[in-house]
Amino acid sequence: MKQAIVGYFRDEDDDWVAKLACGHNQHVRHNPPWINRPWVTTHEGRDEHIGALLDCKKCDQGAPPDRIVR
Ligand SMILES: [Zn+2]
Repeated sequence: MKQAIVGYFRDEDDDWVAKLACGHNQHVRHNPPWINRPWVTTHEGRDEHIGALLDCKKCDQGAPPDRIVR
C-alpha cells in the first residue's frame, strides 16, 4: 500500500527512517550500489520527499502501527 512520508528520524545505527502517514516506519537507506537514495543524505532532499509515497509492506501485512521512538 502506498503511504506518504510525514517525517524522519535516525535509528541507533544512524540510518534514516521515514515516518509514514499510516503510522508505520520504514528505513530509507542510501547504500550504493544496491540502494540509491542520495536525497536522503541531505536536509533539502529529505524536505523535498515529505509527502512522497513509499510502498508500505507493513500495511499489506496488516501490522499494528510502529511506536515512534524519536
Ligand atoms: Zn503502513
